[in-house]
Amino acid sequence: MANRLSACGRFNVLLLEAGGSDQRLWLKVPLGYGMSFYNPSVNWMYQTEPDPQLNHRSAYWPRGKVLGGSSAINAMVFIRGQARDFDDWARLGNSGWSYQDVLPYFKKLEDSPHGPSRSRGADGPLHVSDVSKQVHPLCEHFLKAGEELGIQRNADINGDSQEGVCINQITTRNGFRESASTAYLKPALSRSNLKIITHAHVSRVLFENRKAVGIEYLQDGIKLSVRASREVILSAGSINTPQILQLSGVGPGQVLQKFNIPLVLESPAVGQNLQDHLCIDYIYRAKVPTLNKQLGSVWGQVWSGLQYITKRQGPLSLSINQGGGFCKSTEQSEHPDLQLYFSPLSYLKATPGIRKLTAPDAFPGFLLSAQPCRPESRGSITVQSSDPQEAPKIWPNSLSTPADKAAMLLAAQWLRKLAATPSLGSIIDHEILPGPQVQSIDQMMADIYERASTVYHPVSTCRMGTHIEHAVVDSRLRAHGLLSLRIVDASVFPTLTSGNTNAPTLMLAEKAADMVLADHQY
Ligand SMILES: Cc1cc2nc3c(=O)[nH]c(=O)nc-3n(C[C@H](O)[C@H](O)[C@H](O)COP(=O)(O)OP(=O)(O)OC[C@H]3O[C@@H](n4cnc5c(N)ncnc54)[C@H](O)[C@@H]3O)c2cc1C
Repeated sequence: MANRLSACGRFNVLLLEAGGSDQRLWLKVPLGYGMSFYNPSVNWMYQTEPDPQLNHRSAYWPRGKVLGGSSAINAMVFIRGQARDFDDWARLGNSGWSYQDVLPYFKKLEDSPHGPSRSRGADGPLHVSDVSKQVHPLCEHFLKAGEELGIQRNADINGDSQEGVCINQITTRNGFRESASTAYLKPALSRSNLKIITHAHVSRVLFENRKAVGIEYLQDGIKLSVRASREVILSAGSINTPQILQLSGVGPGQVLQKFNIPLVLESPAVGQNLQDHLCIDYIYRAKVPTLNKQLGSVWGQVWSGLQYITKRQGPLSLSINQGGGFCKSTEQSEHPDLQLYFSPLSYLKATPGIRKLTAPDAFPGFLLSAQPCRPESRGSITVQSSDPQEAPKIWPNSLSTPADKAAMLLAAQWLRKLAATPSLGSIIDHEILPGPQVQSIDQMMADIYERASTVYHPVSTCRMGTHIEHAVVDSRLRAHGLLSLRIVDASVFPTLTSGNTNAPTLMLAEKAADMVLADHQY
């Protein structure tokens, strides 16, 4: 948004970011995201409320607190989602958001080796890499396993069809991470009409009547404010955007009343409709070397380091989610409804608080993972006080419908089917987790309740829709019932897309920038 809005030179843009600069080695080296996973200097490190269906476990939800946001600490998998995800957005009343409407923006944002073509772009700011020739050889076993189950290889999972197994495309450029900051902010830094203030924690939106006129923020413990002559745009993500709105007096009346926050506008959907992808990992001991060997030994690390320094290649230049794809979980499924992940690495011993991907298990291991694409469960986010520095409460409410439980069981069963194929079966020594003793449906469900976890895709907490009773913004992303306030981040997704959420968030921002410029007659 900051790049596109400042490009014409007609408007002054001020970008406020609670975190700091992304000029850090481990935010540049792709595999470095293992180091930012629990690093409070770049990560909000949220902890959810106990989740009733997941044995009352509290989940760890990392979010980027740095220029580039979560795109600076994420796993870099680039997935647009399925055409019908966006067609459904339009069907819900959000005109202008069908797949045909958003496709030009997906093309506009990317510089992909698969483009230029009818469906892919080649001259956008965000570099997308095809790393199919660089991934670990074990990925070939995963692709063949998929084929043995009737899931075809898809050479471009972001092309015309989103079905099939693939090597994941990732957001890197010349072996370095590509984030919203590196792709969009960096080229705009020298513009005199763009100002960036880091370590500026936004505490609330300032309103005059119901018009947003500015922002209040905290810097070094000092309360500051700034006025906006045209618009305030909130892009604080699915956790913090609803928090800021509630702190500003926009949200469910009873929540604001409870914390003595003066009401500006009753907007019941602020913080509601939280959706996320829940995933289950099955961990295998392999008969052949996996990435554990390379990343776990001193010589392997030296070799990987040299490969990276000299050629910007090797495991340090990649994500660990190397293989993946989408399949139909049953014969009745009309569309792919299951996302698969393959990581040629295991880190069973990872202790909470330390997730160094350079310290994997000492034995050869790998991960098969699966995630139902479109969960029905809905959670919520609410402030727990009027203090902007106090984290909001996150209630994921995962697996709260029978359909979601059934989908999760199918996901786990698919992992076992993949493991039993000749291509994977021949290299598996044994299943480590959940282990062969877990066989019955009850046992598999018990394992899911005990181990399933988020893959960090929360959306929809300020969703787009037609009416303030159910939605926070309209289809031009303007807050219902308020003036001069827009929301542009994953919180406005009307529903969760089938895959990872970074690409659709960037698409949304590209489209939003056009809307803002059009609304100001540029
Ligand atoms: C560990 C992890 C792995 C992931 N892996 C992938 C992946 O492989 N592929 C994929 O597509 N997606 C992935 N995602 C998800 C993806 O990164 C997000 O969906 C996407 O970045 C969301 O963008 P956003 O703009 O909505 O929010 P964010 O990117 O989270 O940006 C919000 C920004 O607002 C700032 N902010 C928040 N509150 C305030 C405040 N009060 N004042 C000032 N600034 C504030 C934050 O610091 C941050 O910079 C992952 C996410 C995580 C956390």
